[in-house]
Amino acid sequence: MTERYDLVVVGGGLLGCLTAWMAARDGAHVLLVDKDQVNQHASGQNAGSLHFQLEYRMVEAGEGAARVAAEAMPLHLDAAAMWARMEDEIGEPLGVRQTGGLMVAENTDQVRMLEFKAELERSWGLDVRTLDRTELDAVAPYLSRNILAANLSALEGKADARIAAPAVGRAAVAAGASVRTRSRLVGAHRVPTGWEVTLRETGRAGDERARTVRTAAVVLAAGVWTTELGRIFDSELPTVPLALTMTVTSKIPKLIPHLVQHAGARLSLKQSLDSTVLIGGGWPARLMRDAHGAPAFDRKHQLIPQSIAGNARAAVNTVPALERVPAVRSWVGATTVAPDQLPLVGAVKGAPGVFVATGGSAFTLGPSFARVLTGLIAGRSPDIDLAPYDPARFAERSTS
Ligand SMILES: Cc1cc2nc3c(=O)[nH]c(=O)nc-3n(C[C@H](O)[C@H](O)[C@H](O)COP(=O)(O)OP(=O)(O)OC[C@H]3O[C@@H](n4cnc5c(N)ncnc54)[C@H](O)[C@@H]3O)c2cc1C
Repeated sequence: MTERYDLVVVGGGLLGCLTAWMAARDGAHVLLVDKDQVNQHASGQNAGSLHFQLEYRMVEAGEGAARVAAEAMPLHLDAAAMWARMEDEIGEPLGVRQTGGLMVAENTDQVRMLEFKAELERSWGLDVRTLDRTELDAVAPYLSRNILAANLSALEGKADARIAAPAVGRAAVAAGASVRTRSRLVGAHRVPTGWEVTLRETGRAGDERARTVRTAAVVLAAGVWTTELGRIFDSELPTVPLALTMTVTSKIPKLIPHLVQHAGARLSLKQSLDSTVLIGGGWPARLMRDAHGAPAFDRKHQLIPQSIAGNARAAVNTVPALERVPAVRSWVGATTVAPDQLPLVGAVKGAPGVFVATGGSAFTLGPSFARVLTGLIAGRSPDIDLAPYDPARFAERSTS
C-alpha cells in the first residue's frame, strides 16, 4: 500500500529538522528525508553565528544594497525571539547564547557605514547602538586599539552547529515525524491529492531501491541543492552557490563574550562554549564542478591557503590576543545566497503544495523560515509580508 503523508520535508539540515518538528507538533503526519545523514552539510559545517545585524556582504556593495538586504529584517526579528526560547521548546541544549554581537569599524568610512546601518536597522525595529572607543574599552577590551567604534546588537550570539539540527531532529521524531536518511528525492508528479514523490533509498550494503510516497505538501529544505530540486518540480529556483572557509583554534581562557563581525572585512569570530575560537566570515574556498562546469555539490570542495591566511590575519588584526593561539583545523562548507541577497521563502510557483526556503543566513533564520513555511502549509495567513522573498521574483523580473 502506498504510504501517505501530509508533508514530506526534503533535507535534514537545521531548516528541514525545524520544519518537520513544527509541522509534526501542529499535528501533521510528516516524513523528513535526507539523501545523506542529518546535519552532514551546511547546517553542521557553519559558524553558528546568530547575526541579526546586516552582514559585511550586505553593506560592502553600498547603501542601496544594504537597504534591499534590510527587507529581511522582519525574519531576523522573528528568528531572534525564537532562538531565545528554542532550547526550552526542544528540551535539549543547542549551545544558544545571545550575549550580544559587535560589528567593528577601524576607519572613518566604516564608522559612517555603521551609523547609516544602525539607523536603517532601527527603522526596521532592531535595537542597535553605535559604541565609541571609550565604551568599547569597557565592553570589549579584547578588541585591537585600531578599532574606532562598533555597532552592538544585544540579541546576537551563537548556537552550536554540531548539535542544533540533530537535537531538533530528535524533537521532530518525538512529535511524531518519521526521518529517513540515505533517501534521495529523485522524482515527483502531481496526483489529485497532492504529489507522488519517488525516493531512491540506499541500504547499508550500498544496495538501492525506489520507494514512492504520496503527500499533500512538500518542503524543499535542501540548501545548495535547491535549484536542482526545483527542476524536479519544473520550477526555476535560482541560487548562487558559495564554498566558504572556517577555522577553529585550540582552547583559550574565556576572552570573547560577543559575536564579532567587521564592517570592512570578511570576518566573524566567537568563542565557543568549549572555549575554542571559531573564525569565518565568508572567505572563499574552491567549489568543485563537473565536466560541464556545473557545481558538483556531492564532491569535497577544496580549501584555498590564501583564504585561511587572510581570515587569520583579519582575526588577529581585530583580536590581537589570537596571534599566539594555534589554529587546529580548517574546513570548507557550501551554502547559497539568492542573486539579490534576500532569501527565497514561500510557495513554489506552478507547483501547488510545494514550498521552499533557502538563501543567506539560513542557520540564523532557520526558525523564522520554518515557522513561516509551516504556517503557509497549514493555510494560515502569514504575519510577515513575504512578497520580498517570493521564490518567483527572478522569473517575474525577467519576463516583465
Ligand atoms: C562555512 C559556512 C559558514 C556559515 N556561517 C553561518 C553563520 O554563522 N550563520 C548563519 O546563519 N548561516 C551561516 N552559514 C549558512 C548556513 O550554514 C546555511 O544557510 C544553513 O545551514 C542552511 O541550512 P539548510 O537546512 O537549509 O541546508 P543544509 O544544512 O545544507 O541541508 C540540506 C540537506 O538537504 C539534503 N538534500 C539535498 N538534496 C536532497 C534530495 N534530493 N533528497 C533528499 N535530501 C536532499 C542534503 O543532503 C542536506 O543534508 C554558513 C555556511 C557555511 C558554508
